[in-house]
Amino acid sequence: MNSSMITKLKEEHYRFFKTHKNQPIKVRIQYLKKLKIVLEEKELEIYDALYEDLKKPVFESFASEFLMVLKEIDSFTKNIKEWAAPKKVSGSLLNFPSQDFLLYEPYGTILMISPWNYPFQLAMVPLIGAIATGNTVVLKPSESAPNTSKVLIEILGLVFPQEWVSVVEGDAKIAQALLKVQWDYIFYTGSTQVGKIVAKAAAEFLTPTTLELGGKSPCIVDGTTPIEKTARRIVWGKFLNCGQTCIAPDYVLVKSEFKTSLITAIIEEIEKAFGKNAQKSDDYGRIIHEKHFKKLEADLKNQKIIYGGSIDKKELYFGPTVIDSPPMNSSLIQDEIFGPILPIYSYDDFREVDEIIEKYKNPLALYIFTKNITFGEKFLHRHSFGGGAVNDTVVHIINDGLPFGGIGNSGMGKYHGESTFNTFSHFKPVS
Ligand code: NAD
Repeated sequence: MNSSMITKLKEEHYRFFKTHKNQPIKVRIQYLKKLKIVLEEKELEIYDALYEDLKKPVFESFASEFLMVLKEIDSFTKNIKEWAAPKKVSGSLLNFPSQDFLLYEPYGTILMISPWNYPFQLAMVPLIGAIATGNTVVLKPSESAPNTSKVLIEILGLVFPQEWVSVVEGDAKIAQALLKVQWDYIFYTGSTQVGKIVAKAAAEFLTPTTLELGGKSPCIVDGTTPIEKTARRIVWGKFLNCGQTCIAPDYVLVKSEFKTSLITAIIEEIEKAFGKNAQKSDDYGRIIHEKHFKKLEADLKNQKIIYGGSIDKKELYFGPTVIDSPPMNSSLIQDEIFGPILPIYSYDDFREVDEIIEKYKNPLALYIFTKNITFGEKFLHRHSFGGGAVNDTVVHIINDGLPFGGIGNSGMGKYHGESTFNTFSHFKPVS
């Protein structure tokens, strides 16, 4: 698609938006219901595409992709009428006897750029909220998950006129061309590095933007929680989708005297989940492409591997791997890992934990395993992070009542459920 086609597409969306045909709440609900029916019909095709792109196990695709999308449709179908209704606001003595309201208006035409790691869910969840809020969407899915991208085109094409929802396939060049056009809102999910490029492009038109980015998410273990359960929850969050989860625990910080027992328990849990050879397990995915595989392979160089380290480039298989205290200047620990490698550090004093978390400021997630409320609260309050969990990993993403997003290096803005409605609406105060 060249730049004049992109401009034409944007104009078609804008013209459609101005017809207000998608504005009545009952029309939006009708389309959400239609979308749900088509999704249910295409469920197996979605799993096949995710398997082709990432060798995702069916249950993982169901739980972490398909179900989250259906839940978002249900949430909007149930609540959009109430969320979108004008809200009365108490008057002020200064403007008495005025009646004050907040009116919600959709922004208009939204550009969405999505990543490859949850290529279905991370495209569909924000898209559902954006259209339910009355906007039109041009979606650019990741070129690295082409099978899922095809299914997205098919499903969305069956439900929406293309001037309401369009999918533009392509790589970074196409994304850059899309960013040259003026949109009413940009919603970007991907790396921090590209997030900065998106923010610069948006600044050109003062376009409001949500940036859902990455980072190094710490997992602190003080040894007061049952070691087996702690290890199970870390293993689940880390090796889900072969470690390619933005909120996966990136590294573990464990109190020195519990390091050996935690490592033993983590190895046991890895083998319980995927067997002694994860390559043969139906529950273990693969790395998205060779470029990312090579990055992970390079990350392993000169590291002290305590467990795993087996790889098969032909199959893009990268086994669950545990590393003992990687040097702080190694690539593994300098950048987000985004793969099935788990570094484990020990600490004696909480100030050491503070120091390392501060070094990778504003993680997207922070996890603490502790029974000591004071210790837990210390970290919840002292550090700035996108979201997190106490005595678990990843689960905060499941509750759509909890706004999801990063801060600083890990992004800006939030979504899921009502916060998606708030993100894609402009609030007009009227007296
Ligand atoms: P990426 O930034 O390489 O790509 C994401 C999207 O950006 C793709 O559609 C791609 O085509 C586009 N893109 C790539 N280069 C571009 C450029 N120069 N200009 C404009 N667009 C460009 O990210 P990725 O590798 O697909 O995803 C991995 C990263 O995303 C990780 O850092 C991960 O933590 C983060 N992530 C964050 C979330 C979240 O919800 N916060 C979710 C998933 C992934």
